[in-house]
Amino acid sequence: MRKKIVAGNWKMNLLENEVIDYIQELEQLYSFKPDDVELIIFPSSIYLDSLINLPNYDLGVGAQDCSANDNGAFTGEISASMLASFKDEDKNEINYCLVGHSERRKYHNEANELLSKKVNQLIQNDLTPVYCCGETIEERNDGELFDVIEKQLKEGVFHLSMENFKKVIIAYEPVWAIGTGVTATKEQAQEMHQFIRQKIADKYNEEIAENTSILYGGSCKPSNANELFSQPDIDGGLIGGASLKPESFIQIAQSF
Ligand code: PEP
Repeated sequence: MRKKIVAGNWKMNLLENEVIDYIQELEQLYSFKPDDVELIIFPSSIYLDSLINLPNYDLGVGAQDCSANDNGAFTGEISASMLASFKDEDKNEINYCLVGHSERRKYHNEANELLSKKVNQLIQNDLTPVYCCGETIEERNDGELFDVIEKQLKEGVFHLSMENFKKVIIAYEPVWAIGTGVTATKEQAQEMHQFIRQKIADKYNEEIAENTSILYGGSCKPSNANELFSQPDIDGGLIGGASLKPESFIQIAQSF
């Protein structure tokens, strides 16, 4: 059975005092999270340590990006091995990392070839890549949406062996829906999630496709999460704006 996941991408938001307040509020609300839903937070790297230090609950913690290189002279970058090195029996771990968020693709010119190297770094270090794919509005209007997503999958993650692909989570995030307040309709989202699952089945097999979690991202919020999450191929969400308040984040986790 694939996992139900609600993941919060904080992007470059929240100051230290706001993170402290967030954590306190989340601790109070955490018991309202359904047991069968995994909650993951992707904070700015400077706050990873605060989140993995949280006691007593099973929060998943992930980085928003990692280097495509092992280590060495890459100023400003964080390697997958550094993320993986935060292991301590008494702490949570960093288990996840976003790869290929549309903001990285757009503002940092990250192309599929580079992203595939990041995916490899994460897999080698036993971390789960959350691989983001999505089309722009022009690509959708030109009818290229399926080709674009297929190319992003082929070049970013389909080089992996069957065993390694099992560790990957996919996030479908139509670029036109991210941070715009415009959400894909449940039909549009389901259509693409089904397409992605079929492509995974074609490349690997039906069982792997059935077990891969595919998250929807793009202006998902408490008022629309339920209709999206009730679609058969949508296994949860990658949430930007609405994850910045613990209350709405937990409400989304209750929306299956
Ligand atoms: C995101 O950044 O991954 C995202 C989905 O943002 P938002 O929910 O704000 O559209």
